[in-house]
Amino acid sequence: MKKLFFLVILFAACSQDKKGTEPEKANSMKEQFAIVIHGGAGTILKENMTPELEKAYQGGLDRALEAGYAVLEKGGSSVEAVVEAIKVLEDDPHFNAGKGSVFSADGKNEMDASIMDGKNLMAGAVAGVRTIKNPITAARCVMEKSQHVMMVGKGAEEFARTCGCEFADTAYFFDQKRWDQLQKVKDTEQSVLDHGSTSANDLKDKKFGTVGAVALDKNGNLAAATSTGGMTNKKYGRVGDSPIIGAGTYANNKTCGVSCTGHGEFFIRSVVAYDVSSLMEYKGLSVEKAAEEVVMKKLVELKGEGGLIAMDVKGNITMPFNTPGMYRGYMKNGKKEILIYK
Ligand code: ASP
Repeated sequence: MKKLFFLVILFAACSQDKKGTEPEKANSMKEQFAIVIHGGAGTILKENMTPELEKAYQGGLDRALEAGYAVLEKGGSSVEAVVEAIKVLEDDPHFNAGKGSVFSADGKNEMDASIMDGKNLMAGAVAGVRTIKNPITAARCVMEKSQHVMMVGKGAEEFARTCGCEFADTAYFFDQKRWDQLQKVKDTEQSVLDHGSTSANDLKDKKFGTVGAVALDKNGNLAAATSTGGMTNKKYGRVGDSPIIGAGTYANNKTCGVSCTGHGEFFIRSVVAYDVSSLMEYKGLSVEKAAEEVVMKKLVELKGEGGLIAMDVKGNITMPFNTPGMYRGYMKNGKKEILIYK
């Protein structure tokens, strides 16, 4: 009898304990948060890098990760986190976004940015803006304070003013190495026109320095954002994939968040970011498999160079690219990793 009484007490204690752990488990699932970023893909090879430059890139990525992660840790939203991370990279001239953006054929900086909130599928984008210090803040403003998704040029700048976005004059965005890059690309283009082909050396410098971020916050919401100066020597108001929702940026709590970098024309034609999400939604692929399918098969078949970062609602992260390198990193459960080469 004594033994039976003891067993009953033990059972009651155990079931009590079990009840107690369930909400904790659910809570810890919700408490999962993470951020992943990129600073562009391309012909990024160790042999072409100096230790100083490598350190500078790593430093920029590190500061961006810390800025985004700090927001998430405090319980901030994934939208806030991706904006804070991207602002750091836009302010860093090593990356092709904000200060340090590449030059168009007529020697101008024309920047594009976009953001999407996976919770409600709201999105905002700006293209061809020239004086907004952090174009990502203007994209966010379009998403949150207008009835539109995309604004371009002067109109986008006018609207950004009404939102209180910070402005800088065109000289702020000037970067000597970007200017030299433009001259080099122009020379290459001329030599293609003159001789009909490019040398391996000319192609060695191909880099896409766009920046992007995807975050998952403590409430289980995903957001993705991308910001760029576009491609060197772009002409006639050319706009790439970065500000196009579905091509360069996409987020949906049902599937994943995605930010792309690479030769934008190919990313637009392949609807890359949405394709990753669709493969998950309609075919049940994991985020790794879906991203691999698009970057390593679909894009490669089209000869579209670049890569992407993606994260699903459980915080699984993938960062595939079909170029020699991609500036990238993530921070999850306090662990941080920053990578450049294959
Ligand atoms: N995707 C960008 C564009 O085509 C370039 C980049 O990723 O660096 O504008």
